[in-house]
Amino acid sequence: MEYIVFDLEWNQSSGGNEYENPRMPFEIIEIGAVKLDKKLNIIDTYSSIVRPRLYKKLQPHIKAILSYDEKTLRSGRPFDMVCREFLKWCGDDYIFCSWGSMDLSYLQNNMDYYYMKPFPTPLKYYNIQQIYADIEDADGAIVKLEKAVDHLYIPKDRPFHSAVNDAYYTSLVLSQLAPKDLQDRYSYDVYHNPKEKDDEIVSYHKNYLEHITREYNNKKEAVADKEVLTLYCYRCGRKVSKKVKWFANTGNSYICVGKCWHHGLMTGKIRFKQTRDDKIFIIKTVVPTDKRGLEGIRKRQDELRIKRQEKRHAKNSSYTDDLILEDPLD
Ligand SMILES: [Zn+2]
Repeated sequence: MEYIVFDLEWNQSSGGNEYENPRMPFEIIEIGAVKLDKKLNIIDTYSSIVRPRLYKKLQPHIKAILSYDEKTLRSGRPFDMVCREFLKWCGDDYIFCSWGSMDLSYLQNNMDYYYMKPFPTPLKYYNIQQIYADIEDADGAIVKLEKAVDHLYIPKDRPFHSAVNDAYYTSLVLSQLAPKDLQDRYSYDVYHNPKEKDDEIVSYHKNYLEHITREYNNKKEAVADKEVLTLYCYRCGRKVSKKVKWFANTGNSYICVGKCWHHGLMTGKIRFKQTRDDKIFIIKTVVPTDKRGLEGIRKRQDELRIKRQEKRHAKNSSYTDDLILEDPLD
């Protein structure tokens, strides 16, 4: 199997939202990629400019970082032609790698716009930005590509913000990290998220469990599903009892702590994700923690409780829908 490390440049409407086509808010103008063999050696590169159909004028912020202009874009070829050529270049046995999750999402959105055949689902890929964060940063903080390149002392011998160069740098970050357990560090793309119960994705990794649920009409309907709030051990898959019940950690996520009799303490997290047609699905992760982690989460829960009481007091009002959702869920 080969690794296709790819990167895209895209343009947006320079006339603001009202001139934006909602079917393709981000139009790809360049596809660049590097092909790596099993040992992460570069064996080929791909680079093409795409002639835009919707947004022919470069948006000022985008123009400022690119090394080419509208004239170069006019010399490009239509997206569907370039994309077909790119996918043919990828070969029959490959996995995508990219810096972050956006490129894969925009690629599929542009393919949809041109009514191209979608990738089979579920689609696995390697998010190198995430892998870098997990290995190099204790807090798992997400950083820009150039910062990672600096941090790893990779020579900066070509300009950033060209698709093929950024793909090249991303591939060097990957080959420098070369984690032994790379096979276990895959992600699932959620551009085409699971719709029904049967499409749900449950993936057991060495040190965490990820569950991507079906669609719900709204958050309330999602959290009313008992399955969503049940915590399973990341190692043995058994249902675990909770030490800290689910609570709203941010506006868009809940956390809890559970304990497996055999495998100890673990943190559960659910994140609400919005689909393109305004529905909701959930990404639930379960990762191991320890006593310190448990205390940290208890502290966080207390702080949030106090904040909420202060807010309620200040408003001098009773419960609102918003607050009911913030209460423990089970
Ligand atoms: Zn267990």
